[in-house]
Amino acid sequence: TMAHSKALLVLENFIAGKFVPCSSYIDSYNPSTGEVYCRVPDSGKEEVEAAVKAAKAAFPIWSSKSPLERSRVLNKLADLIEHDLEAFAQAESKDQGKTILFARTVDIPRAVYNFRFFASSILHHMTECTQMATEGCVHYTSRTPVGVAGLISPWNLPLYLLTWKIAPAIACGNTVVAKPSEMTSVTAWMMCKLLEKAGVPHGVVNVVFGMGTKAGEALVCHPTVPLISFTGSTLTAQRIMEKSAPHCKRLSLELGGKNPAIIFDDADLSQCIPTTLRSSFANQGEICLCTSRIFVQRGIYSEFLKKFVAEAKKWKVGNPLDPTVDVGALISKEHLEKVRSYVKKAQAEGAQVLCGEGVDSLALPSGNQRGYFMLPTVIAEVKDDSCCMQEEIFGPVTCVVAFDTEEEVIERANSVKYGLAATVWSSNVGRVHRVAQKLQAGLVWTNCWLIRDLNLPFGGMKASGIGREGGKDSYEFFTEVKTITIKH
Ligand code: NAD
Repeated sequence: TMAHSKALLVLENFIAGKFVPCSSYIDSYNPSTGEVYCRVPDSGKEEVEAAVKAAKAAFPIWSSKSPLERSRVLNKLADLIEHDLEAFAQAESKDQGKTILFARTVDIPRAVYNFRFFASSILHHMTECTQMATEGCVHYTSRTPVGVAGLISPWNLPLYLLTWKIAPAIACGNTVVAKPSEMTSVTAWMMCKLLEKAGVPHGVVNVVFGMGTKAGEALVCHPTVPLISFTGSTLTAQRIMEKSAPHCKRLSLELGGKNPAIIFDDADLSQCIPTTLRSSFANQGEICLCTSRIFVQRGIYSEFLKKFVAEAKKWKVGNPLDPTVDVGALISKEHLEKVRSYVKKAQAEGAQVLCGEGVDSLALPSGNQRGYFMLPTVIAEVKDDSCCMQEEIFGPVTCVVAFDTEEEVIERANSVKYGLAATVWSSNVGRVHRVAQKLQAGLVWTNCWLIRDLNLPFGGMKASGIGREGGKDSYEFFTEVKTITIKH
């Protein structure tokens, strides 16, 4: 009805510094109620064309500004987002289903920090210089921005991951066209409202909203966009590689994971259990770095399992806006069904579901009965070749299995197609080093999880990605390098 549609939040594309309506829209759901509450532009070629044109026009001026001038703009933007932190956190929680606590303490503070970090980082890069005295030459490298960067981000950490791309791209002097996930577009739109006040010139940051197959692909196929930074699934990345191949585009691909936790019998379980619960279930398990295969050395297997399951049962599932809730809603009905189907498959294969889905009952507040909720689920007795141990589930589901030796567990941990992250738990420093060296993962956390220094590379091996992002790595990705030789 008209009355109903009037109440909806309607987003608009942000092109050349102006909000522009679109000819068609996509419904966006509130995952905690199952209701449509927002309409997102269903952009296509035409909108992407306008955005790329604006970005191209803004490039000469933005790219010729000094790093210090750009740094000031990024810092201002960080301040403005921080000033509205609570509004951003509320919006992210409502749009994505994540808990308000997580949005307040992780998503939005990190989005702020992404701008602050690159505002500082951009001032400190050095380029190389070598001498060849015998030839009378010096060689040096110079770095320049590439042009219009295409940025495509997923729904799990919406503003966090989008700003992880926008900040380094514009700090380096590029202009951008960003395409957030069609399921979580609200905070990107809110950020656009702050750009002018921060001093971001028109056309430097353009945001087109819409579907991956339509708006996303138009961006990937656009001849004037020489580089694409993408975070999302491995399947989509394969499609992006194919579509961008004719243009030989530069790609940074941050993809899925099937991350192991390896817990030796000398691990400090008082640290390991709470952290492994978080690494399995934080953000509903919808983080690419989440643990989904827990290998526990046989001597402590029963003790670990008993304590882990008892603690998992304490995680409170419910209204994400309730600050005492630990687990919010999953992103969509389809995704919830997919995650549930993995638990069913495991049961059919003879695995044991120790708590959660299908075992315990879930009581939801009256306003959340139609939301996409699921209990944290722990599965044991799973075979290594089971789909639950091989495929990315991306929900609050984790598998626990026993192992005997170091060599054995390294081989089993590595026997998946992914290679994003791993955690290792042991009080033996030598062992921790040995195992970390042998794991096929772009990130290894020992006796901790998710502690990041943004200066250092982030990214995955194998099907988890191509390239790395981070202080120096993002600088290298978002700039073109040239070697210049001078002979006297
Ligand atoms: P997705 O691949 O479905 O979508 C990601 C983005 O790509 C969205 O904006 C989407 O609209 C767009 N897209 C889809 N098809 C496209 C196409 N053909 N061309 C261009 N763009 C297209 O991923 P998702 O479901 O939104 O996110 C979950 C996935 O992201 C998981 O696999 C997760 O592991 C991964 N992820 C990885 C990292 C990392 O840093 N490695 C971080 C977060 C999430």
